[in-house]
Amino acid sequence: MASIAENIMRVKERIHRAAERAGRSPEEIRLVAVSKTVEPERILAALKEGIRILGENYVQEAQKKIPLVGAEVSWHFIGHLQSNKVKPALRLFSCIQSVDRLSLAEELSRQARLQGKVMPIFLQVHLSEEKSKFGAREEELLDLAGRIATMDGLSIRGLMTMPPYFDNPEEARPYFVRLRKLAESLLAQKIPGIQSLELSMGMSNDFEVAIEEGATMVRVGTAIFGTRPAK
Ligand SMILES: *Cc1c(COP(=O)(O)O)cnc(C)c1O
Repeated sequence: MASIAENIMRVKERIHRAAERAGRSPEEIRLVAVSKTVEPERILAALKEGIRILGENYVQEAQKKIPLVGAEVSWHFIGHLQSNKVKPALRLFSCIQSVDRLSLAEELSRQARLQGKVMPIFLQVHLSEEKSKFGAREEELLDLAGRIATMDGLSIRGLMTMPPYFDNPEEARPYFVRLRKLAESLLAQKIPGIQSLELSMGMSNDFEVAIEEGATMVRVGTAIFGTRPAK
């Protein structure tokens, strides 16, 4: 099995090449190492290789791991967030990438104000027909963004999506194009508080295609840490 150091080097090379193909600067693309189910020792090995943003899916897991790994890095929450986990999530994470409904945003805003902070958030968009996935629907996004933009304690920084898994990453391209276009139409609304939008899209299997379509943040787990144990 390849080492974490080798894996990260390879992922960075792939990011570099994809950016060059798209005529973009590789510096525009930030790598989020997705560390769900990964033990602290192996996360620390990734930090040695220059990883600065970690992505976690479960609040309870993060509560155990973050104190062991440290807060020198940024921790982004990328999983489904239940309203009753908002309080610890706001303490543990420096960005919540998976805001997908008004009720969640309201609770985040309320608790962020109580904690005296402004939390950077991404709106998660659900672009496929799959029923099981979380995320706001495309047609509700403009309205949702407009409402959340008025809430204290939250700062909309970008959009996030997770297309269905395809063996052939080319099949994910239309989803990435749609997220980019959604961001463009959202910016065209000139909603106060939304000046620019990051695009968090692309995972181990398809991040090169996502970069070609404008991703500014890719979330990579398996290609860095190896296959996760089946749940
Ligand atoms: C697990 C996960 C990833 C990473 O997936 P890999 O295929 O292992 O790279 C990215 N984004 C989200 C939202 C995830 O849940």
